[in-house]
Amino acid sequence: MADCLFCKIIERQIPASIVYEDDRVLAFNDINPQAPTHVLVVPKRHIASLDELSQGDDEIVGEVVRRAAAIAKERGITAGYRTVFNTNRDAGQTVFHIHLHLLGGRSLHWPPG
Ligand code: AMP
Ligand code: ZN
Repeated sequence: MADCLFCKIIERQIPASIVYEDDRVLAFNDINPQAPTHVLVVPKRHIASLDELSQGDDEIVGEVVRRAAAIAKERGITAGYRTVFNTNRDAGQTVFHIHLHLLGGRSLHWPPG
């Protein structure tokens, strides 16, 4: 989608530090990491937010979530990690292409701010 930052990363119009890619999913390091591992896992197909999901998206959402778990496992993050979809203003969503934050490698506080 035009003017979507993450679509531009997917289309290689903007550089990113890519850690995983297949036909449907891309994962790259967050530019402003909040933990030793801070990876964003995104579907290649543009979906603006969780509010836009339909039943037909169940499979891709599952793939995104399982990919985050696989990256954590690959990195030996066995002590714990967090996966977050921020949705809309109060949650601090700034990029309207769904992305799962994978945070790990340090102790994480709860509840988040
Ligand atoms: P959210 O606030 O949940 O919408 O998350 C957007 C995330 O995208 C933030 O954690 C940003 O640091 C990250 N971000 C913004 N621009 C880039 C970029 N060019 N490459 C990688 N991550 C980015
Ligand atoms: Zn997009």
